Amino acid sequence: MAVQQNKVTRSRRNMRRAHDSLVATNPNECGNCGELKRPHHVCPSCGWYDNREVVAQADEVDLEDDAA
Ligand SMILES: [Zn+2]
Repeated sequence: MAVQQNKVTRSRRNMRRAHDSLVATNPNECGNCGELKRPHHVCPSCGWYDNREVVAQADEVDLEDDAA
C-alpha cells in the first residue's frame, strides 16, 4: 500500500476538493412533450426518441377500477 510522505494540509486538501463539485448536465428539450431530457437519450417522460415512440408508456392505471 502506498504511504504518503507528507501531511496534506487543510489548505491543500481543500484546494484539491475545490474542483469536486458536480456540474449540471446539458439538458435538451424533448421534441414530443417538451420535457427536459438528456441529449441522445430516450425521453423519460414520453418514451420518444428521434421523433418516434421507442418505449411504450403504460397508461395510467385506475386502481379503483382494477379492484372492482
Ligand atoms: Zn418527451
